[in-house]
Formats: sequence, structure tokens, C-alpha cells
Amino acid sequence: MIDHCKRRVLLAALILALSAMACEACFSIVVGKDASTDGCVLVAHNEDDYPPQVVNHHKVPRHAYGPEEKVVLRNGGMLEQVEQTWAYVWAEMPGMLFSDSCVNEWGVTVTSDNCPSREDRPDLTDGGIGWMLRRLIAQRACTAREGVLLAGRLVEHFGYIAPGRTYIIADPNEGWLFCVVQGKHWLARRVPDDQVAMVANTYTIRQVDLSDRANYLASEDIVTYATERGWYDPQKNGPFDFAAVYAHPDSASHPDNAGRQWSGLKYITRQPIEPGFDLPFSVVPRHKLSVTDLMEILRHDETDESDSSASASGFGCALCSGATQTSFVTQLRNDLPPDIGIVYWACLGEPRTSVYLPFHFGISDFPAGFRTDTERPTAEVFNRRVAAPFEGTPGKAFWVFANFRDKADRQGSPFVAAIQAEARRIEHSAIAMQKPLEEAARSLYANDRVAASKLLANYSRGLYLWALEGMERALMQPTDEEQITARAQAIHEAVVTLDSHVDIAEERYATAALDPGVDHPNLRCDLVKMARGGLDGVFLAVYVRQAPELNARTYADARRIADSKFEAIERLTQSMYPDRCALALCPDDVERIVAAGRKAIMIGIENGFPIGEDLDRLNRYYDRGARYITLCHSAHNQICDSSSQPAPLHNGLSAFGRRVVARMNELGMMCDASHISEKSFYDLLAVTQAPILVSHSGCSAVHAHDRNLTDDQLLALRDNGGVIQIVALDGYLRAETPERQEAVRRLREELGVPSFAERQNWSDEQREAMRPRVREFYRRYEQIAETFPIASVSDYVDHIDHTVRVAGIDHVGVGTDFDGGGGIAGFGNHAESLNVTKELLRRGYTEEEIRKIWGGNLLRVWRRVEAAARKR
Ligand SMILES: [Zn+2]
Repeated sequence: MIDHCKRRVLLAALILALSAMACEACFSIVVGKDASTDGCVLVAHNEDDYPPQVVNHHKVPRHAYGPEEKVVLRNGGMLEQVEQTWAYVWAEMPGMLFSDSCVNEWGVTVTSDNCPSREDRPDLTDGGIGWMLRRLIAQRACTAREGVLLAGRLVEHFGYIAPGRTYIIADPNEGWLFCVVQGKHWLARRVPDDQVAMVANTYTIRQVDLSDRANYLASEDIVTYATERGWYDPQKNGPFDFAAVYAHPDSASHPDNAGRQWSGLKYITRQPIEPGFDLPFSVVPRHKLSVTDLMEILRHDETDESDSSASASGFGCALCSGATQTSFVTQLRNDLPPDIGIVYWACLGEPRTSVYLPFHFGISDFPAGFRTDTERPTAEVFNRRVAAPFEGTPGKAFWVFANFRDKADRQGSPFVAAIQAEARRIEHSAIAMQKPLEEAARSLYANDRVAASKLLANYSRGLYLWALEGMERALMQPTDEEQITARAQAIHEAVVTLDSHVDIAEERYATAALDPGVDHPNLRCDLVKMARGGLDGVFLAVYVRQAPELNARTYADARRIADSKFEAIERLTQSMYPDRCALALCPDDVERIVAAGRKAIMIGIENGFPIGEDLDRLNRYYDRGARYITLCHSAHNQICDSSSQPAPLHNGLSAFGRRVVARMNELGMMCDASHISEKSFYDLLAVTQAPILVSHSGCSAVHAHDRNLTDDQLLALRDNGGVIQIVALDGYLRAETPERQEAVRRLREELGVPSFAERQNWSDEQREAMRPRVREFYRRYEQIAETFPIASVSDYVDHIDHTVRVAGIDHVGVGTDFDGGGGIAGFGNHAESLNVTKELLRRGYTEEEIRKIWGGNLLRVWRRVEAAARKR
């Protein structure tokens, strides 16, 4: 018991020690005006402090004061107030003395980075100055240089209370690093215009030329004081090196500090830099840096593993540490009115798992959520809030992001990568929107500043809400395999999943010889596999092969084939398994049957050939349960031209075909445009009064094939309100490799089995005689797939993705063509249906979108076809 308690105390002490170290790990970047794409100075900063911390943002207005007013410092020191203080943006960390950042109306930016000095006998007057230093600069300075000189005067008068620090003091023209030593000493250096400086918790100013007052400013006795204290001997030590003389040896020699500065500089520099402690104050970047570049540097969370010099030296360190509470990039442009030109890109939480949102100086205030919770919370409150379930509440920005970081980390690195992608997407949009937004604000600004201010504030708030939505969505996207499977299963349980095209190839279907009630080795679709894959319903195809001649005899033969298939489906649903499945005649039936735990069986006739030239036959097939007809198959028929025969017979839809479509509209039967020629397709769209179905086809743009739809067809389908159900048939999904083609050709040759299309011309006798060989062909055909892979689920979903991009999410579904040629790697039968959903989840589809794909769209089309029929 005692041991256990002791261990916990030790552990707590260790965590505290680690946190205390992290607390000092801020990181700052200053980009000179000629080193930025904006032609102005940029400042970027990660504010690292151990929790519990809260970050608030305020827009503090200008303030006028009377002649006698005084400013009282925290420790009692007093100074004269000025007539007027400038307006400024204030990023506040309540209760923290050295963590706030400010940007004032002149663009003067102040932030800081803890850099302990070696001073151990600081001279303080009236309690010294600390926290107020940055606020006074923001309130009083019109330029960075003014800010530096003001800070210098204040430090020399009161003395600095903390061990030491580098303040970044910048304006649109120049950036300075102001290094303050505990007590009354300081030294500042201007960042060269074409260069970039970075600070990581230790002084970076080395040799100085104090006579060059344009670039160096310092307390008068900065060198003599060091000499007096014995820290510097001009004879022994050579030229004065500020960092070497004044920095605390522990900070100066800490590999994390030098490592982070090196990592940051290396990331941008044109010249290679050796890792070590001898780092340059600033470097010329490889290319001019943009706001986005700075976000990426601050987001950088691990060393580049490919860099052997880093790993060999033990150098290099995350710039975005786990302790980052907030981060920002300021864009200080002076070619626009300051209200528009100065932009504070704020990132609450760690940039690793968060997003930078722009706030123009002209906004009247930050959105409500950015300025709540002014109290510093207790550790207990902090932990409770960040561990709570994620809730994207716009009223509590800081908590939302802190909580989100927690959730992200718990879900692991692939998830963090997904979030970063989302954050970058939002940031890139914001960057793209910046120019038009600012032009609009600028034209408003001339006449109506309030309206311009509102526009900018509304824009930022809108982006914030959008970011919350994106994060919420990202959080819903599972990344590891187990989570994805669980989520796919849950979706299949929640939504109705339908397949619009499954063949029942043989007349023996639904007999003891070919029993769909068992897990049948020769069936890709049976009741067992459907249950296993969470598939709720299928359209079984009453497929009739096309005879070469259109006459009374071939029509009669076709009718007999159709009848035998209707009978097979009736056997399945009525005599064999009425407890496990039922015939659905309308969308309501589907939902009712599925809700009762049975499989919905629907009927589609594949090929309108058996109708002959008798429209009333449509009524009879409708009465028997058929709800769609594929107008033709792989050859022209009496209704329309097929896509598989290049030379047209009717040049599209025949005159009889038009009447077929009209009657189907009247009955409420869906017209299926799979297999029909492009001209037939457009003819169909021109005459139909209802949305159409494309029950099993793909996209030509992904893989050119006569059975697939062109992008123009997809757009026409969208305008018609119809749906394309993507086919899972290898040859339609992607180009076959020559190796595979050759293997299949050799197999055909060896077994004497011609192509599917050619086999359609076989007589019944031929068919019967060849059956064993055809079976052998398919057995070995599948073996070929092991050597020369067929299309994958990813290829399949590529067609879904493409349809969504072209026609939208409301116009795509699933129509496998199982047992009629369909079946791909990973989606070879209905038991593997989940793999499609998993791939959709991986690609970021939401449950609602997946519901549409897996049957929602098909049911909508069917309902609209029914409604159009009733209107007549
Ligand atoms: Zn087909």
C-alpha cells in the first residue's frame, strides 16, 4: 500500500517536473519584410505553458486619460499615463505573467519567449516591471523601434523581475528581438529585412555592433556591466557575444533549445546549417515565406527522420510541443488600412490538432466563444473539461479545441493526420478567400467603417463555425481498422442497403440443386451471404438473352425463359423461404420487410425482349412484381439500340420503344438504361416522365467502356433526378492488364469457352453440353485473379467518387451484377458488402451519404416513379 502511494507521489512529481520544463518551450519566428510573400513583416509564435490554462481574446479600444493619471504596476511602481492609449488585440492567458501577446492598431506586435539570464543580483526599483511591459508597448508604441526604446527605458528604470526573456517587437516594416536580462540590462537586434529569425528559449543575439544604432540598441553599460561582473573579459574572450555572456548556461546548453532553433531554421534556410549550439541569429529563406508556411513550421511536430544529421547528433526537436496552449501568425501589411491590413491568425490549442482562423484588426470584437472563461480554472476543472465528450459549441472556443486535442491524441496518429488535412483545407480556403473579402471590406470601409467591421467579424465567425463542423466530422471518421469495421456494421444496421442488380443465371435457381437459402459455393448472392454482409434487399434479374431475330417465335421463347425466372423467384419467396425473405412491390414494402428482419426481394427484367410487341405484357409483368425493365441487353432489340453493337438499328429508341417507356411511366415501372446505347439513353431521357435507373454500369471517365456512362450522361442523369448503380464487374471498372488478358485468352482457348456475349447465341443443347466446361472455366478464371489481380474495392469506389463529383451524392448507388459476371477482389459476394462501406468511410463519406449510396437514392427514384404514375 505504502509502496503504491509512494510510487504515485513520485509519478506526480515527475509529471510536474516534465510539465514545468514544457512550460518554457515557446517558439517565436520573425520574418523580415523582404523575406515574406506579403512584402511585410510576419510574426509567428507558439505559446507553450503547462495546463491548466485558458486563452481569451479581446479587442481593447483606444482610451483617453486625464493629465494627472498614473499607471500602477503590479508590484507598486508608478509611471505617468499618456493622453491616449492605442487600440490593441490582446491574447490573454488569465493568471499568467509572461504568456500574453498583443497587436496594436499600428501593427506593433509583442510576444515573448522565456530566455533565462545568468543574472543573480538583479537591481529592481519599486518592485520592478514584468507583465506590464508588453501591455505598455501595445498601448504606447507606433513602431517597433519606439516599442524597443520604451521597453528599454522601462527596464532601465524599474528593473525586470523575471530571469530573462526575448520579446519579439515588430511592426509592418521591421522586426526586433529585444533581449531583457533580469534587472536593468537589455540588448535588441533588428532582424535583417531579407531574413528570418527564430527563438527557442535562449538568447540568439551573438556578436553585436553597438555603434550601428539602426540595427542594434542596448542599455549603455551592457558590456561594461558584464566585464565588472566577471562574465566577460575582452582580452581573453574576444569580441563581445551577448548570448554567450548573458544567457543562463543551462538554457544555452540545453539541446532542446538549440535543437528547436536549428529545426526551425533548417526548415526554411537556403544554406545548410550544421546542428549544434553555434547557430545563426537569422537566415535567408529558400523562398519567401507566406502565412501558410509559418503555420506549417509551428505545426511541425517531429523531427525529420530522414535527416541523418539530426538523429546522429541527437538534435532536432518538436516545434509544436504538447504544451502549446495557443499559437498565432500576424500578418502586418501596411498597403491596406490597418483595420484590414493587420490580420491575427489565431489557433487555439496546439496547431498540430487545430486550425488557424483569421481575425482582421477591424473586427469590433472576437466571437463570443473566444472571450469567455476569464477565470483561470483549477486543474480539476481543466481535466474534467478536456476529457469530456467532444461538443462543438461555438460559445466555448478554447474548451472545444482543448477537448478536441485530447480526443485526437487518444485516437492516434492516423487520426491526427486526418485532422491536419481538414485544418489545412479550412486554412487554404481562408487564404483563397482573403483577397476578395478584403476588397469588399475595403470598398465598404471608405463610407461605412461599421459595416466593414461587421463584414470582417461575420466572416471570421463563419469560418469558426465551419471549422467546428469540420472537426466534428473529422472526429466521426474512424481511422483504425477495428473502428472502421464497427462503424460500417453500425451503418449497415441503421440504413436500408440494396443491390439493384443480381442475376439468377440458371433455371435451377431456388431448387434443391441451387439453393439460395444456404451459403452456396456457386452463388455470390444468397440469403446467408446477404445476412453476413448486412445487405437488406436485392433486385433479382429476370434476364432473357437476346435472340438474333425479332419474330413471334423468338418472342415466345423469351417469354418462356422470363416465366421460368419469375417462377424461380416465386419459389424463393413463397415456398422455400417466406420466413426469411419476401417480395417487395414498392419502397414501403422494402422498409416494412427489412424492419421485420427479412430480406427484401425485388424483380427487375433485364432485357425488354420478352415483351414482344405487346404493351399489355408490361401490365402482366408489372402484376407479377417486376418494377424495372432494362430496355435491352447486349444486342439491339425491338425497343432500342444496345451499347454493345456499334452499328445502330433504330438510331436510339424505336417508335415502339417510346410507347414502352410511356406505358412503364404509366404503370410506375422504372426504365433501366444499363446496356442501352448512348443515343437510346438520351432518347429515353427526352421521353420519360419520371427519373430513370441505370441499374448496373460504371463511369467512362474512370474506365472507358461502352457499358459505362460519360460525364455528360451523368449530368443528364442528375438533371433527370435518376440514379446510376455502380456495377462490380472487373471489365467495366478498370483496364485489364495485357498479362491478364493473355491468361484469360489462353484459358478460353484451352477449354473452348467463348466470351459471355458469344455464349448468348448458344442453343439450349449446346448450353447443357458445355455446362461442366463453363463451370471449370469460371473456377480457373478466379484462380487467374490470384496471379493477375482483378479490380478492387478501391477501383469500385473510384467510380462512386467520380459520380459524386460529377452528378452529386444523390445520384449514385450499388448494382453488383453478382451471378451475372460481377464480383471483384474484396467485393466478390454479398458477404463482403461491408468492405465497400469501409472504403467509403475511409474516404470521408458520412453515414447520411452512405445511406444514400446503399439504397436511399434508389428508393427515392422508385418513389418518384410511383408518384409520377399516380399523377396521370
Ligand atoms: Zn447486365
